[in-house]
Amino acid sequence: MSALPVQPSHALLQPLSLPQARLVDEGFWGRLQSVNRSAVIPHAVEWMERLGWVANFDHAASGTRYEHRGREFADSEIYKIIEAVSWEHARSGPSALDGIAEDLIRRIAAAQEPDGYLHTLFGRPWQAPRYSDFTWGHELYCFGHLIQAAVAHHRAYGGRSLLDVAVRLADHVCVMFGPGRLNRVCGHAGIEVALVELFRTTGEHRYLDQAALFVERRGTGTLPLIEFGRAFAQDDLPVRKAEVLRGHAVRALYLAAGAVDVAVETGDHDLLEALKTQWDNTVARRTYITGGMGSHHMDEAFGEDYVLPPDRSYCETCAGVASIMFSWRLLLATGEPRYADLIERTLYNIVATSLGEDGRSFFYANTLHQRHPNSEVPLNDDGVCIRGGSGRRQTWYEVSCCPPNLARTLASLGGYLATTTADGIQIHQYASSALGTVVDGEPFELAVATDHPYSGVVTITVRKAPPRPVSIRLRDPEWSADTRLSLNGEPIDRTTDATMVLTRTWHAGDTLKLTLDMRPRVTRPDHRIDAIRGCVAVQRGPEVLALESIDLPASWELEDATLMPGTITAANQSIAATVRHHRSGEAHTVPLIAYRAWARRGPSAMRIWIPEASGPGETMPAPKV
Ligand SMILES: [Zn+2]
Repeated sequence: MSALPVQPSHALLQPLSLPQARLVDEGFWGRLQSVNRSAVIPHAVEWMERLGWVANFDHAASGTRYEHRGREFADSEIYKIIEAVSWEHARSGPSALDGIAEDLIRRIAAAQEPDGYLHTLFGRPWQAPRYSDFTWGHELYCFGHLIQAAVAHHRAYGGRSLLDVAVRLADHVCVMFGPGRLNRVCGHAGIEVALVELFRTTGEHRYLDQAALFVERRGTGTLPLIEFGRAFAQDDLPVRKAEVLRGHAVRALYLAAGAVDVAVETGDHDLLEALKTQWDNTVARRTYITGGMGSHHMDEAFGEDYVLPPDRSYCETCAGVASIMFSWRLLLATGEPRYADLIERTLYNIVATSLGEDGRSFFYANTLHQRHPNSEVPLNDDGVCIRGGSGRRQTWYEVSCCPPNLARTLASLGGYLATTTADGIQIHQYASSALGTVVDGEPFELAVATDHPYSGVVTITVRKAPPRPVSIRLRDPEWSADTRLSLNGEPIDRTTDATMVLTRTWHAGDTLKLTLDMRPRVTRPDHRIDAIRGCVAVQRGPEVLALESIDLPASWELEDATLMPGTITAANQSIAATVRHHRSGEAHTVPLIAYRAWARRGPSAMRIWIPEASGPGETMPAPKV
């Protein structure tokens, strides 16, 4: 069984499926996968049952009048959890989660209408009519998640229980929205990636055609004008004409991911080039140092170029997930390592930050600067957080798109580690894992061991290899200024290429040792980002570091602290720096923690970008009045 989230018919690099690329339980990401299985997934199911989101399907199936619970997109959260369970099954085999998925699928299938339509909020006599609200209704968006879940379920379990539902639904969509029919797109993209993957699974070309049509139709003004403008739903410009991502970040990124899929499957070189340009410009001008995307709270949207204020950064967790989806597809299509660099940055600084250690609490927004410890969080009568922008991880949200998105990403993470080509394997992410592929009909297997990101040492041991030359390509991370490599203890001369390719006849037991440069780095911002001018950030490896108020003297406010970059020290993987009070001049040495670890010791103020202190010996500025 070939279980993997993205399975292009043809691409420069082919992903490894989940059994071929397996994270080891003891590694950094393997541990989070265990938490996902034991806590995140059951927790999400529990909440969705408690809040009546699953019961919406039961009521819809019964045909009796009911009050719909949750938001317009509540259906999609259940689909995402089925997707998560499916990847988890593909990764770790049978478990109690299988029965949960079976139960959910049975209830979903029962709610499908005879013509294939399936949404619990629209179309019944007492509800709004189907397709009466493309801006906010999320019908096609929900269909997209159902289809993605169905593809995952089919690839992981082999059955068709959900795939048949998805096929009927997708056929309905093709009839309703095909050429000459309803000339509309969904306000929230997402069905595009789903339809392409359904094409890849079933071989039915009409799903790819429909995805391509949705991509082409976007940007032609088929959606009503709303207060956030046409760019909010990317309906301002055709995808192939745009030069940067704009509007609602998750929508923009899902659309871009689906458009890459369409470009790859149809051989549309111009469309692929346009998306690469959009990625370049978005990463250069509209992306936070954490990999976070989306600086507006009001419309959850990208700001204009260099509008990247740290204390109003939105950086929705789902935008991080969607950014990984976009980058991964471009990596497969082009082989260029910068896409893996951004995936790594986003994994360590968004995905790992969002998730609480207990697996039962989550950030929705991932701010770069919390000015005051946040102990007051607005909860509704169900005990659910009303709004995403909070300084503490929350149990559940009224808009709970992020936790199930984390769940499906973590469960499928093994699939993002490495790829294969006819002549070998490419390792993109350094995580304790077992990787295997087949080269020329013979197995090629590697064991990767590392405690990265705590240290920069990665050991890759050959387990099985064909008796002929095979290549191993390693990514040299953009942040590592001095990457060293040895084979069986002998140093290897580094080429000037960003990628490290070693081609030779390997033997079981051969060991590659990669040593990445984990020295802390001081980063100064682009001068065009006004909000952080005069500040510095400290990074170590793929991780962005943060200063938390809990580590400052009790009499200090977070904003009193200025950083002296020359004082940064690293000892036993702990980073410390001297901060100086901006008025009194009093100095203290304090730890800088990994950003993902913030707010784990109770409510705290925190910042990534810290004002730079004037150098030692310089005159102190006059006290401000
Ligand atoms: Zn979300």
